[in-house]
Amino acid sequence: MAKKLSKTEARKRIEKLRKEIQHHDYLYYVLNKPEISDAAYDSLKRELIELEEQFPEFITPDSPTQRVGGAPLEKFEKVKHRIPMLTLQDAMDEKELLDWQGRIKKLMTPSEIEKLDYFAELKMDGLATSLIYKNGMLFRAATRGDGFTGEDITQNVRTIKCIPLKLRLEELPKKYKIPKEIEIRGEIYMSKKAFLELNKEQKKKGQGTFANPRNAAAGSARQLNPEVTAVRKLGFSGYQLVTNLGQKTHQESHQLIRLLGIPENPFNRYCRNLGEVIKLHQRISKERDKLPYEIDGIVIDVNNDNLYKKLGIVGRTPRGGIAYKFPGIEATTKVKEIIVQVGRTGKLTPVAILKPIKLGGVTISRATLHNADEIERLGVKIGDTVIIQRAGDVIPEVIRVLPSLRTGKEKRFRMPPKCPFCGTKIIREPGEVDYYCQNKKCFAAIKRYFYHFVSKKAFDIEHLGPKIIDQLLDEGLIKSPADIFLLEKGDLIPLERFAEKSAKNLIVAIQSRKEITLAKFIYALGIRNVGEETSQDVAEYFGSLEGLKNASLEDLQEIADIGPVVAKSINLWFRQKRNLKFLGKLEKSGVKIITQKKTKFQPFKGKTFILTGALETMTRDEAKAKIRLLGGKISELVSRRTDFVIVGKEPGSKYEIAKKLGIKIVKEKEFLEMLK
Ligand SMILES: [Zn+2]
Repeated sequence: MAKKLSKTEARKRIEKLRKEIQHHDYLYYVLNKPEISDAAYDSLKRELIELEEQFPEFITPDSPTQRVGGAPLEKFEKVKHRIPMLTLQDAMDEKELLDWQGRIKKLMTPSEIEKLDYFAELKMDGLATSLIYKNGMLFRAATRGDGFTGEDITQNVRTIKCIPLKLRLEELPKKYKIPKEIEIRGEIYMSKKAFLELNKEQKKKGQGTFANPRNAAAGSARQLNPEVTAVRKLGFSGYQLVTNLGQKTHQESHQLIRLLGIPENPFNRYCRNLGEVIKLHQRISKERDKLPYEIDGIVIDVNNDNLYKKLGIVGRTPRGGIAYKFPGIEATTKVKEIIVQVGRTGKLTPVAILKPIKLGGVTISRATLHNADEIERLGVKIGDTVIIQRAGDVIPEVIRVLPSLRTGKEKRFRMPPKCPFCGTKIIREPGEVDYYCQNKKCFAAIKRYFYHFVSKKAFDIEHLGPKIIDQLLDEGLIKSPADIFLLEKGDLIPLERFAEKSAKNLIVAIQSRKEITLAKFIYALGIRNVGEETSQDVAEYFGSLEGLKNASLEDLQEIADIGPVVAKSINLWFRQKRNLKFLGKLEKSGVKIITQKKTKFQPFKGKTFILTGALETMTRDEAKAKIRLLGGKISELVSRRTDFVIVGKEPGSKYEIAKKLGIKIVKEKEFLEMLK
């Protein structure tokens, strides 16, 4: 600012700028009709910031510059709702919707029935929030909580740009009264686009990602540090004007909400009868995937406020409203167990193991519970009957518990104090929703172990590459390698990269590898210092897993080629409870060790072989198996002790070395002769 303004001039200019910016916010967020460019808007805001810096005495709490502020909180204060935030009953299909109308009509007079009409609105999938304005200024924002008591998230809500800090009271027509306090309820939500961007950002920063937009919205609005909320792109959609300003219908409430400067969904509609409601439901249901945000149904309210009130409340649900859900994505089942899975960032995610159930054509046996807060919010216990939902291509989740079906035998779930994988202490930073394993290398080690377990020389599972393993671990589908064998097609189909066919192929590949030789099995266990050859030696010596399990350190050292270090590490492995448990798990999941037939005929006994180059009639692994079957040993390093070097096409350096050392070179043809 070149010229300095006088105090009076500055005050006036600040006031005007504030009003102008608020007006453009309204045009942009509520009417969706901006009149000026973003650049012009920013320029207005810059001028306001500069003036306020020069004249801080004129800063008001509703100034658009006052959205970010306040130090991080220790915890959220509890807020009691003056009027409870109720939940709606659900209608799963047209019949249930018509039944509802039948029920309420019984409570109505003939003239009320004649005038019965509705207001229908999109049910945004987010965090239900109450906003209280005092003298037009945003005074307090609170979450729904249990309906009676929520959490004070005012300082976070102040950062949500589409929620006005000041209501446009001056816009209300004269016939309405303006009480000191006005309460408006609505949903804080996150658009699908903002959700994807946020997850991308989180991944880049090595932080936990959110399972769906609803979780992202809830997690972002419930941050102890408002600066985090400020950068998350949150939306708000108003759906209830709790305070009576003189409105007579629900439709009028929506008009007032809009007039006051609070966004509400433009698809919301007045409906003369249920026929119109059903038509709207059908239309939105078709366009639902194209909407920029997620919705899970249509909320229908009896339009006349007096009648709505007269219909009353049963338990915690009002009779006058109902949520007409979209079909086919929910089902009920039982929670058999709750396990904890560790993610690539060390994030621990509780996962519900379900009694398998068909949902949208696929069998589901797991559902994510997201985090400890979510378990608390849902109130889910082990043994509970729950409603699970699968929306689009996200992983199935538990959305509700049916407590009336409890038997009393349900068990509470508690986060374990230590990481279930590495035993390191787990922590939850203040303000974080998730627990993390403190061992930074925990997940990397788990991943590597899984890669090893399914690799060619171990269980040799086709189609199960590192990318798929990462995905399965991320989604909480596998926690132990034993879980691989329990995977079902329905677990995979909802995942990215999987379709009906690829899911089937992987399951078939897994099932075909349940039988395994003892040597490969030992190798798969990933015991320190135990490679392919040692596994082979050990397997031959003991012949069975039982034999190996019971082997003493001395027994192990008796095996030729096994030194004290290797013997010790094998012995140690089989003495750890965790590992024995793992062996039990593998057996339970159907893994069978096939006893290797030992041929008495062992012409290669005591001979060491080296393979180099590609063979025409068999793979290298097949050749190795044949040599072993006849008593021979395989080595990777050429030395004077090597007896034969089998040479295929394009042999490597081993061939040259062998020639120099004068070791017997065997071509494929000769090798086949030897095998005979
Ligand atoms: Zn860990």
